[in-house]
Amino acid sequence: MVNYLLMITADLENLTNLQPQGGCDDPSFSYFFNLICGRCGEQTQRETCVNLNETVPLTGKGTANLIQKCKFCGREGTVSMIAGRGKPLTQEFAEEGKCVPLMLFDCRGYEPVGFVFGGGWKVESVTGTRFEDIDLSGGDFAEYDEKGKCPVMISNLRATFDVVK
Ligand SMILES: [Zn+2]
Repeated sequence: MVNYLLMITADLENLTNLQPQGGCDDPSFSYFFNLICGRCGEQTQRETCVNLNETVPLTGKGTANLIQKCKFCGREGTVSMIAGRGKPLTQEFAEEGKCVPLMLFDCRGYEPVGFVFGGGWKVESVTGTRFEDIDLSGGDFAEYDEKGKCPVMISNLRATFDVVK
């Protein structure tokens, strides 16, 4: 079985603990990415959206977060999310250019690629000011921390899916 661990990092200026609004296992936080079919190698043209709240029953037993047929070859694949692996991105990790895990995906018949940053993030400044419901779909975030009297910024967002065996 192959799982994919979504790893993220960013440049954080005077900020720390970047994570989904409701914490790392926020049930309503949406993940957007593309899928590559394991049989024909075609990539989906529209991003897939999954979150922990939405599940679909599998034939047989259990549930998945997505069941989708490949538009090119017709093969059915599934994506299941496995909670409990996510960690906030701290300033220390960001400064070293290290990635932190965000979510683990069990993908059958598909390979996930091209994670897209969307809305629903939170972060705090090094002086403790909280910034909530941040939309990162534009690629960055810039504000001024009144308490710390310093600019704060999120930029250079990066994400990869690492294979976990
Ligand atoms: Zn296919």
